[in-house]
Amino acid sequence: MNAGPADTLSGRELPIIAIDIPEPVAPSSCTVKGRATPPATKRYKYRMIALASVHAYIAFHLISWHVFGIQIWGKTAMMGVPSLAKGTINAASIMVALILISILIWGRAFCGWACHMRGAIEFADWILRKCNVRQYLNLREKNILINTPHRWLLRIGALFVLLLPVILLILKTGFTPQVNVMSPAPMADLPGYEGKAFAQTAPFNLDIRPTWNDFLVSIGLALFIQFTMSMMLNLRYGQGAFCRILCPYAPMMTPLMNISPIQSKITRVAQCTGCRDCSNACPQGIDVSREIFHFNGKVINRECIKCYACIDACDDHVLKDTAAPGVPQTDRLKPYEKRPWQQELIRKDGYQTNARHMQVYEPLGPTTDFLSILVALVGGAITSKLGGFWFYPGAIVAFILFRQTCIMGSKWVVAVKAQRTSTHKHDRQISAASQ
Ligand code: SF4
Ligand code: SF4
Ligand code: SF4
Repeated sequence: MNAGPADTLSGRELPIIAIDIPEPVAPSSCTVKGRATPPATKRYKYRMIALASVHAYIAFHLISWHVFGIQIWGKTAMMGVPSLAKGTINAASIMVALILISILIWGRAFCGWACHMRGAIEFADWILRKCNVRQYLNLREKNILINTPHRWLLRIGALFVLLLPVILLILKTGFTPQVNVMSPAPMADLPGYEGKAFAQTAPFNLDIRPTWNDFLVSIGLALFIQFTMSMMLNLRYGQGAFCRILCPYAPMMTPLMNISPIQSKITRVAQCTGCRDCSNACPQGIDVSREIFHFNGKVINRECIKCYACIDACDDHVLKDTAAPGVPQTDRLKPYEKRPWQQELIRKDGYQTNARHMQVYEPLGPTTDFLSILVALVGGAITSKLGGFWFYPGAIVAFILFRQTCIMGSKWVVAVKAQRTSTHKHDRQISAASQ
């Protein structure tokens, strides 16, 4: 057994085995290109239309407010959770409450079908595939999903960042519950707020008048921010990275999963062959095949976002999204029982595998993960000088750069240690020979 790469900042050495484990095996009927490109099923197209419609709705909402002065829509931007935390019942907080209630019936279908950020993530995926970005295709073709074992630390940290301004405000002014459906203005943290493309404090600016042309500039800037941060994260950590690693809403959603008897789940409705096409297609790294094998034909994983990639990938029509009980598996699953996913190992490229998720983990410890949040905060604070929404690209860039530096530092420490050990060994051999 070899010592693995050390966590750069905690100095902890990972108990790992240097072994090259097999990647998920492509089924014979499935080419590599086929796995990088989602099957163009009706379900997939409807989902993309639904996600695009969310952006169209947001644009419609902002234009009606900003250009035509129609304010009856209330606020449906991103401030629902802070509004709830502050005790303000507005359109955004009502929307968040409805989303959370919907989990009891449909699971996280909101994520797969109606989240604006997921739309940005899928669009980034499409752009990176269409532009043949090799680094991304390398990840996408084998469905390599990079993450950290301490992703809950990052997600809860992100939720804390989302709530931090509210916590500060409550400390300053006290908790003031109120019902005001129209508060605050929908552009409070978006380009276009207060008639400017950037914050009033930004070093440069553009006037945004209440006209179509000017307002399209501010919508374009908001979309640019979302898509570039999705692209950066997808490119570095594989598809759907924001949802898997950083989304601050995940800590609120997952506790509501699997508590309602009427919640629909991905379910086995016919005999499974154990081919694992479903597991290899899941963008959330869920081992669908294993879950339906072990949990009465149900996918109980709280990360399931109801994207239906597993259903589309199953040529045998074994899977369905339903609350009905799963069909018992009577056929024996030889190929499944031989799979290695129950072991925690380290691959030659340094990433750790995990027993429960089909994701690989960066060889970084909790200290580095915690510091990643602080570094992201600093990066975000710098770019937020351009406006609240600009916090995100700065935070994401700082997050990726810091972690990449730590991984390189970690490799360097391991290399130096190995060199020292080999030098000592060599010296001992020389001194033994000379005696
Ligand atoms: S995990 Fe977060 S970002 Fe991803 S789809 Fe769900 S709410 Fe949206
Ligand atoms: S559910 Fe379908 S795709 Fe998944 S392992 Fe079973 S037969 Fe294969
Ligand atoms: S289990 Fe299926 S529906 Fe759920 S996230 Fe994975 S592929 Fe999508």
